[in-house]
Amino acid sequence: MRINLSQKKIRDSFVEKVQQLSGQNLLVCYQCGKCSAGCPAVAEMDILPNQVIRFAQLGLKEELLNCRAIWACASCLTCNVRCPKGIKIAEVMEAIRQILLRQRLDHVDINKIPPEKRKEFPAIALISNFRKFTS
Ligand code: SF4
Ligand code: SF4
Repeated sequence: MRINLSQKKIRDSFVEKVQQLSGQNLLVCYQCGKCSAGCPAVAEMDILPNQVIRFAQLGLKEELLNCRAIWACASCLTCNVRCPKGIKIAEVMEAIRQILLRQRLDHVDINKIPPEKRKEFPAIALISNFRKFTS
């Protein structure tokens, strides 16, 4: 992934917004990688959880809003428990999803899932889907 860094990005209100919504201080992350090492969803992610934090520190808004990792995150909280700096990475993932969803962009259109398929899904999967993937 090609990344363009600039002072403007680092000072962008996006960084502040992620910190506000997540309640986390992104700057305390020292990139030890423990969050990524224990994450059960990394196989489905395009950038690792520690990279999500790094990108957020650097204000890489477009890269984060378009990454698959925030949607692959299962909110299992393993990373939160493992982080030696006490950062709640799952909350950061949720904050980035919220920023995107507040633009009224649904990630999944339930109407595009055939009714016969919907019947097969466990109820909890549908409820989680609505909570996580729709605005
Ligand atoms: S475990 Fe915590 S300190 Fe280590 S990379 Fe992840 S967020 Fe940063
Ligand atoms: S909460 Fe998300 S990022 Fe953290 S370990 Fe679980 S799946 Fe991975």
